Amino acid sequence: MKAFNLQSIRFRISAVILAGVVCSSLLLQYLWVPRVTNLFVEASERELTRDIEILSDGILPFLLSNQIGAVYETLETVENRYDNWVQLNLISATEEQLYPRRLEEVPSGPNLITENISIEFQGQNYGKLTVIADLGPVIDKLQGEIVRMALIGFGIVTMTLIAISVLVDRLVTRRLILVADAADEMADGNFDVSLPEGRDEIGQLADHFHAMRRRIQDQTETLNVAWKRAETALDARSRFLATMSHEIRTPLNGIIPTAELLAETELSEEQRQKVDIILTSGKAMTSIVDDILDVAMLENGKLVLQRQEFSPEAICAEVFDILRYSAEVKGLELVKSCEISPDLMCWGDANRLRQVLINLFGNAVKFTKQGSIALKASVEDAGQGRVKLFFDVSDTGIGIQKDALDRIFNRFEQVNGDITRQFGGSGLGLSIVKSLMDAMGGSVSVESEVGAGSTFKLELELEKSTKATKAVRSRYPTPKAVADDTVGADRSALIVDDNEVNLTVASKMLARFGFDVDLANSGLTALSKAGKKKYDLIFMDMHMPEMDGLVATLRIREGNGPNAKAKIVGLSASVQTEDVEKCHAAGMNDFLPKPLRAERLQAFLAEWEEENAA
Ligand code: ADP
Repeated sequence: MKAFNLQSIRFRISAVILAGVVCSSLLLQYLWVPRVTNLFVEASERELTRDIEILSDGILPFLLSNQIGAVYETLETVENRYDNWVQLNLISATEEQLYPRRLEEVPSGPNLITENISIEFQGQNYGKLTVIADLGPVIDKLQGEIVRMALIGFGIVTMTLIAISVLVDRLVTRRLILVADAADEMADGNFDVSLPEGRDEIGQLADHFHAMRRRIQDQTETLNVAWKRAETALDARSRFLATMSHEIRTPLNGIIPTAELLAETELSEEQRQKVDIILTSGKAMTSIVDDILDVAMLENGKLVLQRQEFSPEAICAEVFDILRYSAEVKGLELVKSCEISPDLMCWGDANRLRQVLINLFGNAVKFTKQGSIALKASVEDAGQGRVKLFFDVSDTGIGIQKDALDRIFNRFEQVNGDITRQFGGSGLGLSIVKSLMDAMGGSVSVESEVGAGSTFKLELELEKSTKATKAVRSRYPTPKAVADDTVGADRSALIVDDNEVNLTVASKMLARFGFDVDLANSGLTALSKAGKKKYDLIFMDMHMPEMDGLVATLRIREGNGPNAKAKIVGLSASVQTEDVEKCHAAGMNDFLPKPLRAERLQAFLAEWEEENAA
C-alpha cells in the first residue's frame, strides 16, 4: 500500500471538491442569502405602500360622511385578512384615536416594516393611517427554502465531483501507478510485471511502455551476455597475466642469480660487460613482470591491503637509500627533506606506500638528465587519532606536456613515442601508483612544466599508532643491510625446490656465505631430510607437485622433530599478498620472492644474523 501522497491526482481532485463546497457555503451565507432577503423586503415594502393607498382610498368616503362605525368595520376586516400585519392604526386630523379604539403598544423587532399615509381630500387632512407588518416568518421560510435548495445543489455537485474523482482514480491514477510500479520493477531488473490494458490514452501509453520494455529487456540481455563475456575475458586475461608472470619469473630465477654468481668470478673486461648486460636486462624484466602482476591483481580486485604498524619516516629513508645509487650514477643532486618525526608510527600498508614512492622516485631519476631530484615529506594532524601524510617527489627533468597530464595515470599511457623510445618503460607504473593510492584512500596529482621538471604529490590519511614499534622490514634490500660473508659458517641450510636450476642457483648463493647446504627436490624428500638432521635455515618452495611447501612446512612443524622450531623461509614467484599470508599461516617464519636475488638474500641474512645475535 502506497503512503498518502499530497501530490496525487486523487488528493488534488478531493481538495478541489472540498474547496468548492467551502467557498459555495461562504458565498451562500454571506452574499446570496442577505441579497435575496433584501430584495424580498424591498418588494414587501412596495406592496405594503400599494395596499395602504388602496385602503386609505377605501375609507375616505366614510370619513367624509363621518361614518366612523363603517371606517372601523372596514379596517377591522382588512386587518384580519393580512396575517403579517401586526398593527393597523388610524388617527383623525385632530389626533383622535379612531382605530383601534385604544392604541396598543407599538411592536418592535428586526423584520418589521412600517408604512404611513395621510388621508387628504381637496387639500384638507382627514387623518393618518399607519400599518406595521412583520416579515420575520416569511423571511425565515424563504431563507430555509434557500438553504434547502442550496444543500440539494451542493449534494448533487458533490456527488458528481466524487463520481469524477472515483472515475479519475479508476481510469487514470491506478493505471498510472501500475505503469510507475512497472518502471520501478524494471529498474530492479524485473521485466515480468503487469501493465494496464485498454484502448484509451493510458492504454496507449501502456502499449508504448510495453514496446520500450521489450527493447530494454532485449538490450539488457545482450548487455548481460556481453558483460559476462567481458568479465570472463578479463578474468582469463588476469589469470593469464598472473600465470605468465609466474612462468617468466621462474626462468629469471635461474638467469639473474647465475649472472650474479658469474659476476663474482674472475672475468675478462668483455665478459664482465656481457654479464652486466644480462643482469641489467634481467632486472628490468623482473620489474616489468612485477608491474604486470600488480596490474592483474588490481584488475581482478585481488589486491588485499595489509594493516601493519610502520614509520613513514623510515619508508622515506629506505626509498631514498634504494634510489640513491642510480641517481648518483647519473650525477643528479639528491635532496631529502623529511619533516616527519621518526617516532610517528601509523597503521597502513607500508610495502604499498614504499612501492608508490619508489615508482615516482624511479621515474624522477629516469626522466632527469641533469639537475636534482627531491623527496619532501610532511605530516598534519587530521584529528580523531589520524594523520595526513604529504609526499612531494620533484625533479628538474624533461617535464610533461599539459595535455598529457591527465592521461599519464591511465594504463599503458605514455606521453609520446619519442620519449618511450628514448627512456623506455611500459606505461604501467603511474596507473599502478594511482590504483594503489585510490585503494589506500589517498590521492596522487602532478604539476609539471616541459623542460623545467615535474612534481608528483601524494596525500594519504592514516590512523596513528600509539605504540612505538619497530618498523616493518622492507621487501627491498637497502645498502645498509649487507650480511657478513661468513654468516653461514658452521651452519646448515636445507633448500627445497622441484626445479633443478633453482636448487643449483640457491645452493651456490648460500654456499658463498659458508653454509653447509642440503638439497631436496620434493616436499616428501624435504620431510625425510628434515626428520633426520637439524637445520639452521630451511628455504621452502611453495608450489611443488605431490606435496607442496605449505603441507611440508605443516608436517615439519608437527611433533617433536629436530626442525619443529627451525626458521623456515617460503620461496615463491607468486608474490601476491594472499600467497605470503598462506606461507605464514602454514607456519613459515618469513618469505622471499623469486627470483632470489643476491642483494635480497644478503639483506635477509643480515637481519637473521641480527636476530641470532639478539
Ligand atoms: P613508464 O613505464 O613509461 O615510465 P609510467 O606510468 O611510470 O610509465 O609513466 C607514464 C609516462 O608519464 C611516462 O612514459 C612519461 O612520459 C611520463 N612521466 C612519468 N613520470 C615523469 C617524470 N618524472 N618526468 C617526466 N615525465 C614523466
